[in-house]
Amino acid sequence: MLGAPGAGKGTQAEKISKKFDIPHVSTGDILRKEIKNKTELGLKAKSFVESGKLVTDELVIEIIKNFIQGDSAENGFLMDGFPRNLVQAKKFAEMLEKIGLRLDHVINIAVDNNEIINRLGMRRTCRKCQKITSVAECNNGELCPDCGGELIIRKDDEGDIIRHRLEVYEKETQPLIEYYSKSGVFTVIDGLGTAGEVTERILKSL
Ligand code: AMP
Repeated sequence: MLGAPGAGKGTQAEKISKKFDIPHVSTGDILRKEIKNKTELGLKAKSFVESGKLVTDELVIEIIKNFIQGDSAENGFLMDGFPRNLVQAKKFAEMLEKIGLRLDHVINIAVDNNEIINRLGMRRTCRKCQKITSVAECNNGELCPDCGGELIIRKDDEGDIIRHRLEVYEKETQPLIEYYSKSGVFTVIDGLGTAGEVTERILKSL
């Protein structure tokens, strides 16, 4: 699943992976968990993630390799936030070929920059369960709608870093749109509207 930060990849990936009962692999979530747990990987990734830079390809490819070689990848999976550049996309294609899997779909969730900046500015993360939510949808103030935990602004959702992440997206990740548009399995989905509306559009396209 492709899309700029804040396009709704995480929300949609969660819904779609539940619907098809396949694992949802979010490299961003995996990295944040490693950082929270202060693992060796987390310590290596921390400064990159918190400043809105991409972590090294080697680190991310290692994460994906471990997942793909494990049992839980056997019946398919949904990648969210990976690949993030052409090097990763080419390496991913090699990994899939090696184990005889193919990409069934590449979904690009398209949302314009003004909407992205607006959404990321309202984005909050639960300190306890890590759920991402929007203050616009929170009717209980600054508490997580799922677990009641405290909502915080993720370091990389702060003003300057948002702008930097968008620049990184345009430079590194946008070229993947051209790369995958030749794959025959590429679909652009309008990311405006409610999460439910976007899910419906995705399901119709599959
Ligand atoms: P996300 O939650 O997908 O927006 O990712 C948050 C941060 O994790 C990014 O800004 C990067 O620092 C890092 N990250 C996530 N996925 C990747 C990836 N595939 N390649 C490099 N860095 C990544």
